[in-house]
Amino acid sequence: MSAARIGPGGIPDWLEPLVRFCSRCGGELAFGPVEGEERPRLACPECGFVSYVNPRLVVTTLPITDRGEVMLIRRGIAPGIGEWAQPGGFLEIDETVRDAAIRETIEETGLRVEPGAIVGLYSRLPAAVVVVAFEARIVGGTPAITRESLETRPFAPEAIPWPEIAFETSVRALRDWVARVRPELPLPDPATISRPSGG
Ligand SMILES: [Zn+2]
Repeated sequence: MSAARIGPGGIPDWLEPLVRFCSRCGGELAFGPVEGEERPRLACPECGFVSYVNPRLVVTTLPITDRGEVMLIRRGIAPGIGEWAQPGGFLEIDETVRDAAIRETIEETGLRVEPGAIVGLYSRLPAAVVVVAFEARIVGGTPAITRESLETRPFAPEAIPWPEIAFETSVRALRDWVARVRPELPLPDPATISRPSGG
């Protein structure tokens, strides 16, 4: 049954074990047509409960120094361990997007930021996430090694280590930022950058 849930209208295979049973009655969920729904859904044959599976929001920032460099972290945790990315993480249920941007940045970099304009919003279907990237002014703190980062350091727009960026969504966010602040710089094609971790 599980294979039928994967693919168009289904859910990623890695997510399937998390939504196997009905959260109302404990029955086993089945994927298929549901009355009143315009697409196949996971639903409980026992009680009729429909389990909607939607992407989650990942909130990230591009912390910018006074010199116009972007602070990136070398990731200390999977996925993308050892590669570079902007700080960020999942939005919690009890916080605003802006609060999450500030919290995740200080947790992962030691830097206090003031989120500004949204650089972009990026879907990544295999990971079932939507990533928002804020440009953010650094207003305090000190770059720190944290549980989640091996290193935090600034990169000028022309010095971004494109082949070592952890995630496709990070490449896209950094491309959009560089295009905004240094439109004359050449940009890499995201499809040509190999990322060992996929992401
Ligand atoms: Zn049920």
